[in-house]
Amino acid sequence: MNDLTGKTVLVTGGARGIGAETARRAVEAGANVVVTDVLEDEGKALAAGLGERARFMRHDVTSEEDWAAVAAFATAEFGGIDGLVNNAGISTGQPLETETVEHFRRVLDINLTGVFIGMKTAINAMKDNGGGSIVNISSAAGLMGLALTSSYGASKWGVRGLTKLAAVEQGTAKIRVNSVHPGMIYTPMTAQLGIQQGDGGYPNTPMGRVGEADEIAKAAVFLLSDDSSYVTGAELAVDGGWTTGPTVKYVMGQ
Ligand code: NAP
Repeated sequence: MNDLTGKTVLVTGGARGIGAETARRAVEAGANVVVTDVLEDEGKALAAGLGERARFMRHDVTSEEDWAAVAAFATAEFGGIDGLVNNAGISTGQPLETETVEHFRRVLDINLTGVFIGMKTAINAMKDNGGGSIVNISSAAGLMGLALTSSYGASKWGVRGLTKLAAVEQGTAKIRVNSVHPGMIYTPMTAQLGIQQGDGGYPNTPMGRVGEADEIAKAAVFLLSDDSSYVTGAELAVDGGWTTGPTVKYVMGQ
């Protein structure tokens, strides 16, 4: 199951958190992995620890030049790109009425335009290789109206929409495109927001716990692998049931 032997996978924002666990899982599944991030020290250390089938390259996902350089690097090192995990992102939380235009544009630049340039770059590379799989990391905030996420939520809804139309455009080119929607996952991003790991860490979810980065990584590896060969344009919520609706902790009348 979930074999990636012989495939080359690019993971953006892969120096830590969900991206790092995805890179780790992909190497374990047999892939060659190019980890990219703006965090150079963490990225280099991660790739060194993952062994000879892993590389690191500094990469700002908002830069077209950086994307071209990463694609050339992946081709020179491993012969092309078969899988892309568009994972890099930043999280924010302000009410819409106090969000600034400048900050809104910055969040969309990283979380949405970065994904757009990545898809464009990877699709061109994948066509040369006869197909591939793109996994866009959206969010539970891309499936519902999550308060205090005006810029972040807009970017993640945008990622979900881009995923759908790319899946339609690329279907016959054998390039599958899917989105993953993590719920509350324990990573450096959410630790900075005060989220606690494990049971009780996020009681809003039906499962009552915070998820682990590895639980998102396993979903991403499934979508990268040929085990999901007929899955495209799908949105996979990996959220402990958070987006199923309000969590009801009691039954009316009991
Ligand atoms: P994380 O720990 O902050 O990791 C994200 C990485 O992306 C960081 O190393 C970050 O570097 C990097 N990055 C930021 N801007 C970049 C840019 N312009 N170019 C390249 N890399 C950049 O976050 P995470 O929790 O693992 O989240 C990964 C993805 O999952 C994000 O897209 C996030 O929105 C999504 N997600 C996470 C959760 C959650 O609960 N953790 C839930 C839903 C969705 P800096 O530290 O310098 O910013």
